[in-house]
Amino acid sequence: MNLGSAELTYCGHATFALKTASGKRWLIDPWLEQNPACPTRLKNPAAVDTLLITHAHFDHIGDALRLAKKHGATCVGIFETVAWLQKKGAQKIVGFNKGGTVDVDGIKVTMTDARHSCGISDGDEIVYGGEAAGYVVTLENGLRLYHAGDTAVFGDMRLIGELFKPDIACLPIGGHYTMDPLQAAHAIRLLGVKTVIPMHYGTFPVLTGTPGALHEHTRDLSGLQIIDLKPGETLTGELKRLVPA
Ligand SMILES: [Zn+2]
Repeated sequence: MNLGSAELTYCGHATFALKTASGKRWLIDPWLEQNPACPTRLKNPAAVDTLLITHAHFDHIGDALRLAKKHGATCVGIFETVAWLQKKGAQKIVGFNKGGTVDVDGIKVTMTDARHSCGISDGDEIVYGGEAAGYVVTLENGLRLYHAGDTAVFGDMRLIGELFKPDIACLPIGGHYTMDPLQAAHAIRLLGVKTVIPMHYGTFPVLTGTPGALHEHTRDLSGLQIIDLKPGETLTGELKRLVPA
């Protein structure tokens, strides 16, 4: 299974831009302007159709309202968080919950569990944002991308592997707020996934996990491909890496 004509671009931290085969522009966990890892040319996308949100911390929704208002993009996420975005001015929302699947422009999105918190910083308050989640995104050609969101490793990743057999997993490895490379290596075993893109590391000094450490902890796994995408790089087709000029 490959990406076909879809393009997956790493914007740094946990943010990915996905251009689907039908040309729709998605952002997963939109954090661009203040994201120190995001290349300048990606901070103000020309078009955004869908914002897929794993949870409400600033480093995942920092640009959600700005882009929802500017582009009329649809905010897709857990009920409480997208209801808050709607209250703040997002016109189009799709709220659902764990276990549910929604179809957005021919892309199927299934919400999975994640072990993390989801408070929304609203002025000087933290308000309830529902729970943190992950997603299995099924593209038009059937490729399944698992974006774990921010999470510790948890045993039910085995269920995600059994049920959805993800082709690619984007997994946090930085530690401190999420799992570290040792735990991420175990997540890979539970998921049975063969292609992994590390994320959520290096952005802040406390996120000390590295792709190199993930390699060390997965030496025993044959056929595993860890694609250490640099911010700004794109995967397409047979997981070909497009390096920006
Ligand atoms: Zn985070």
